[in-house]
Amino acid sequence: MKKVLVLEDESSIRSFIVINLRRAGYDVIEAESGEEALEKLQENPDTRVALLDIMLPGIDGFEVCRRIRATNLRIGIIMLTARSQEMDKVTGLMTGADDYVTKPFSPAELTARVDALMRRSGVADETADRINQPPFVLNTRNRTLEKDGQRIKLTQMEYAIMKMFMENPGKALSREEILDLVWGRDYFGELKIVDVNIRRLRLKIEDNATNPAYITTVWGYGYKWEA
Ligand code: CA
Repeated sequence: MKKVLVLEDESSIRSFIVINLRRAGYDVIEAESGEEALEKLQENPDTRVALLDIMLPGIDGFEVCRRIRATNLRIGIIMLTARSQEMDKVTGLMTGADDYVTKPFSPAELTARVDALMRRSGVADETADRINQPPFVLNTRNRTLEKDGQRIKLTQMEYAIMKMFMENPGKALSREEILDLVWGRDYFGELKIVDVNIRRLRLKIEDNATNPAYITTVWGYGYKWEA
């Protein structure tokens, strides 16, 4: 079941999204307000991706994102941002979104983004069961991360980034390579999404996120996992 929730208060934009996602084979649930979206997600726990508009009459898209993430790390979240809202992209990702699309977007761009998250949220991993790099253990069967035996809660995207790092210890990875490896080659997004996701991941896994010891920056290039 490929179920997607679309939260957008403007009915013309909502219909545009809904029509295109249905055409691409998705089962789509619609919501006009944040409150309605949260209710519908409770009624449809098998929803795998949520598209969240930010400017809404009641609670805004960031708050909806925060409330979803408080109980659901598995669902993929894409924020719908306006061209003028540069900062919103970063804020959205920091509240737990996996991606954003800027309005106006084409049907092809939209479905490519949803497809990318859908692939990430459903597929079981068939490689080795666990990667053990003290103090971290990544369990690829149940997609969890532990540090010193303590579970660290990760979104699907953060998990995918950790797995990529732990499979490439000591290797400098360019931001382009990371985008290809984690988001996929057919991804349309910007390199900045790599930086924002890594900033958020550092807050979760580093002892001191401002002076990272595990995910280090390779200036002018990308990042490296210090195993
Ligand atoms: Ca709106």
